[in-house]
Amino acid sequence: MKFFVSWSAADPNFVSYFSDVHLLISPSTVAQSWTLNCLSTMPSEIILDSGAFTLMRHTKKWSQKDVFEWQMRAVRGVTVPVWLGHLDQPVPPDCNSKAETFRRIETTLARAYEFVQLVKKTNFPQNIQTLGVIQGGDYESVRFCAREMARIGFDLYGIGSLAPLCNTATIMERISGAMEIVGKRLHIFGVSSLEVIKLLIDWNIHSCDSSRPTKAAIYGDVFYSNPFRTFTVPSSRKDKSYNVLEQPSPCICPICIKNPYTITVTGNKKSNNQRAIHNYYHLREEINQMERAHLFHKPQFIKSGVYFAPSS
Ligand SMILES: [Zn+2]
Repeated sequence: MKFFVSWSAADPNFVSYFSDVHLLISPSTVAQSWTLNCLSTMPSEIILDSGAFTLMRHTKKWSQKDVFEWQMRAVRGVTVPVWLGHLDQPVPPDCNSKAETFRRIETTLARAYEFVQLVKKTNFPQNIQTLGVIQGGDYESVRFCAREMARIGFDLYGIGSLAPLCNTATIMERISGAMEIVGKRLHIFGVSSLEVIKLLIDWNIHSCDSSRPTKAAIYGDVFYSNPFRTFTVPSSRKDKSYNVLEQPSPCICPICIKNPYTITVTGNKKSNNQRAIHNYYHLREEINQMERAHLFHKPQFIKSGVYFAPSS
């Protein structure tokens, strides 16, 4: 499974520290004039999504055409694989109205259709491919949206509105609903749980993204892998129920190899970013470990229970 780290212009420059970085970038998190050529090193693969979740809070009202024009400017001259997502309308976790859920799905489908028409008018190089975003508020509405998105036709499908959900069974049930329609060529937006990541690997899902290394670093959290553990730095304002990092553990990440105490510093953006590099290193290590374990065991799917694997 490909792991994309979501990235904004204020985040650490992951590509200058690691090879084989996959980035997910949204228009609201970079300057309007920003392009992928502003990166010091090209990532292995890029998703340019619409960032609909953050755009909802943005002062500028983005149309599908605005997002597409931003994507066109951003990818000019880029030769690595890029997935372009259309503007969608997420379903908030507290949306209990079926009518509102389907209104949001209809809006998403209309924008997806408009996006595909714009793509057809554009002479794309082969490295640029399309990503259709499936929205829904439960298993049935996800299946409905997936069917309609498949009719429009995309190179890859993504499933949104999962990031605010905490229950693994609920998340996996919706993913299985999408998989039954579009198969494993599925990107899962906004995953933060390792339990979910492990299941995505077991289900041979194409890719997922997370902002967890950076967000955790901002809150003073430090990851270690093998086994995966989370600590908080002593100066971080948290109650005593957190595991406090008394001493940095041995680590060969690009930050700790120079000075392991760097990751314990808080209070400024530079040290948060250095901690994010360390966290990204360990999350990737953990995912690589899960991938290796997956090769040596046959995943157990629960066929009639809380969630199940699609038959494909
Ligand atoms: Zn480190």
